[in-house]
Amino acid sequence: MASRRSQRVVIIGGGTSGWMTAAALVKLLPGRCDLHLVESEAIGVIGVGEATLPHIRGFVEKLGIREADFMAWTRGTFKLGIEFRDWGRIGDSYIHPFGTFGRGQGEVDFHHYWARLRVEGAAVPPLEHFSYACMLARANRFDLPASDPQSIASTYGYAYQFDALLFAPYLRAIAEDLGARRTERRVVEVLRDGASGDITAVRLDDGQVIEGDLFIDCSGFRSLLLGDALEEPFEDWNHWLPADRAVAMPCRTQTAVTPYTSAIAMPAGWRWRIPLQHRTGNGYVYASAFTSEDAAARALTEAVEGAPLADPRPLRFRAGRRRRSWAHNCVAIGLASGFLEPLESTSIYLVQQAITALIELFPDDGISPIDRDEFNRLIDLEYDRIRDFLILHYHATSRTDTDFWHYVRTMTVPDSLAEKIELFRRAGRVVKYREGVFLDASWIAVYVGQGIVPEGYDPRADQPDGTLLLRGMQALQSEITATVARVPEHLRYIDRYCAMAAAA
Ligand SMILES: Cc1cc2nc3c(=O)[nH]c(=O)nc-3n(C[C@H](O)[C@H](O)[C@H](O)COP(=O)(O)OP(=O)(O)OC[C@H]3O[C@@H](n4cnc5c(N)ncnc54)[C@H](O)[C@@H]3O)c2cc1C
Repeated sequence: MASRRSQRVVIIGGGTSGWMTAAALVKLLPGRCDLHLVESEAIGVIGVGEATLPHIRGFVEKLGIREADFMAWTRGTFKLGIEFRDWGRIGDSYIHPFGTFGRGQGEVDFHHYWARLRVEGAAVPPLEHFSYACMLARANRFDLPASDPQSIASTYGYAYQFDALLFAPYLRAIAEDLGARRTERRVVEVLRDGASGDITAVRLDDGQVIEGDLFIDCSGFRSLLLGDALEEPFEDWNHWLPADRAVAMPCRTQTAVTPYTSAIAMPAGWRWRIPLQHRTGNGYVYASAFTSEDAAARALTEAVEGAPLADPRPLRFRAGRRRRSWAHNCVAIGLASGFLEPLESTSIYLVQQAITALIELFPDDGISPIDRDEFNRLIDLEYDRIRDFLILHYHATSRTDTDFWHYVRTMTVPDSLAEKIELFRRAGRVVKYREGVFLDASWIAVYVGQGIVPEGYDPRADQPDGTLLLRGMQALQSEITATVARVPEHLRYIDRYCAMAAAA
């Protein structure tokens, strides 16, 4: 086979996205890239981003990292899903699980049987009671999924909650060990080829010039290369996702170290609660059109459970994405490419998807426009799907108590989402995806959790007869309860499996 020329890859930014990209490229494309990362400690990193999706496990595994070491280092906890409190109505609580409802087998999804019983007027327990992951989370217990596909304890996945400030340094050590170079300086100028418009080099604040073939913009919200230098337009989704600010404030953990993240609705947005081994992360994501920074900081301070470990830290953002994530010879990954609020913990997932697509389409000798278009198609699709899913959380509410909730309840949603909601409301149908992150169980959890309950169901769910069906459901519920009861408490599992170092 002809030997491929090594590409000079320059990454700007050493946050989560910069070091995830660097570690993955040097590990998975050895010999294909000569990698140089530039970061500025004076500018720093965003320092939030602690809740993840199950896909992160694939990333950790591909890098050859031992899960228990990684979790101990990042003071991580396990995550079985996200609890949404007060979203549909004040007092509501439901979990979006990383698992199925029912056993997840058969041609007809479980929720159709559940919907049928409701349509027939039977007293059927909440859907959540038929999800092993939800019940495990509610019981505050954790174990790794069973390998036997017949076991109810195999019907879920899990993700991590970790300290954002410890994740990137962990990856940096791996990347540098595998040959990545790092320069700690500030980029002050981006140099471009007069004819093609491609980026040829970046100039640093000490005058040094770093040349490259491929530039990866991981500079965060600044979007130094793709946004500033190449002027790729930003598609703004603020009218659908009006939250544009956050205040973040970690606190001591006072109550349970839950194996799930909580998203608790607030008067002008929502707040996160992410329990780690050594503290709990909190933040209030809010819309500045509906409340002030002072009021948000006050509301968060009053809401957190334990003693604050820092003052409230303000953050600003806009929902949306660059029209293209890859333009010329520059690929933006992470916040430099776009942002969707952390309601479903999707940012690190998007970083991971961009890295995977880049590796698959990695340029050989010169960049192929076809590969670049394919990369942009894949990333757009991910963003658009997540955007609709997030809007659903806001729109599917009956809350009328504040101007914010009134706005999101009555706003016009994208046609793509309006169709999805209608399909589910009429007959419990979930739009099927071949690509994209959130599959059926995720949509079902949010629809039902926020009061969109199917008025009909799949006709095949008319079998078996009602008595038999109810009996089967009761048996499933008992099996779930009994199996959950045998699982260790979450913190006890962590102590045994991946406790952080005592001195840390
Ligand atoms: C409120 C909030 C909560 C979030 N919660 C979650 C969550 O729970 N889960 C999740 O998946 N994601 C979450 N995110 C997103 C997550 O924080 C980011 O996706 C992740 O941290 C990646 O950030 P980044 O590396 O792209 O940018 P940054 O961390 O901002 O890094 C940018 C890097 O670029 C460097 N840089 C910038 N300019 C220059 C320059 N001129 N010269 C040299 N270097 C430069 C900086 O020094 C830094 O190293 C959240 C985001 C926000 C705003």
